Amino acid sequence: MRLFGGIEGGGTKFVCAVADERLNILSETVLPTQSPEQTVEAIAAFFNGQQKQLGPVAAYGVGSFGPLRRDTAGQHFVGIGNTPKAGWKGFALPGALQARLGGPVILDTDVNCALRAELEMGSAQGMQHVVYVTVGTGIGGGICIDGRLINGSAHPEIGHMLVPKLSQDLDFKGVCPFHGDRCVEGLASGPALAARLGHPAQDCGPDDPIWQLQAHYLALMCHNLIQTFSPQRIVLGGGVMNQVGLLEKIQAALRDSLRGYCASERILSGIHELLTVPALNGRAGVLGALMLARDAFSRSTPSKSRALCE
Ligand code: ADP
Ligand code: ZN
Repeated sequence: MRLFGGIEGGGTKFVCAVADERLNILSETVLPTQSPEQTVEAIAAFFNGQQKQLGPVAAYGVGSFGPLRRDTAGQHFVGIGNTPKAGWKGFALPGALQARLGGPVILDTDVNCALRAELEMGSAQGMQHVVYVTVGTGIGGGICIDGRLINGSAHPEIGHMLVPKLSQDLDFKGVCPFHGDRCVEGLASGPALAARLGHPAQDCGPDDPIWQLQAHYLALMCHNLIQTFSPQRIVLGGGVMNQVGLLEKIQAALRDSLRGYCASERILSGIHELLTVPALNGRAGVLGALMLARDAFSRSTPSKSRALCE
């Protein structure tokens, strides 16, 4: 049995899993995010323990919070970029893991991993043009066009898209450390909601007027994504999307915002099919990381692994 390792790295926790080539998860753990060195130590202890019990892991995939930085040739992600998270700026996560684990370690953004999983086994199966956005502590997204994930010269930063402010929200200063109240992360992330409310957003009932505001900003983000990429689906994940009724409010606000204009008739007539929540929920990130490992392994040994994965 061929085994793969998947790691979803977040600002507060790391989810680690070992799976077989059909992505059945055989063992899983959740570790708190500490300093980079402590976190790598805990991840290595988990996987090295699992390898003793289950056998060798062929490759590891990591879906991490960003921004991520590339190697000098601009080809592969080699570490964390310019993050405000203490101690993590510049950290060469895949190299540090590889030194402790042995197998190849491939890094991608957490949102690209979640997108990969939603495309293969979640709410966007069979689709070619899909955007995945997480609305949580931050806002971030991955983009798939013509069946390929696109990263450009670094990777998309959907959360830092600028959106115009509503007049009733003019006093709010926003929470983005770089753009204040000008970007969607500054206005509509979980911490932005908490800063307006004075308490976490989940303590707020579905009838609170803040959800109208929130739906408006997320609808503007979706409007921009639709007009730029013409996706078949936008999957909205992350903790904030657990709010009951928020998806429906965004759908209505998006219809208002588009005002009957975009290139796709199908989008205009099917906003409910266009905007959905993830099918895999909390599992998308780690499953996508496992897919990253499986696909890297099959690219490196095409004939052997194709037989294994069929
Ligand atoms: P992270 O972004 O750290 O990976 P999550 O995606 O779980 O974590 O998002 C956490 C954010 O989601 C927090 O700001 C939290 O207040 C918010 N959140 C969690 N549940 C809800 C809810 N039911 N309604 C609104 N906001 C929520
Ligand atoms: Zn910003």
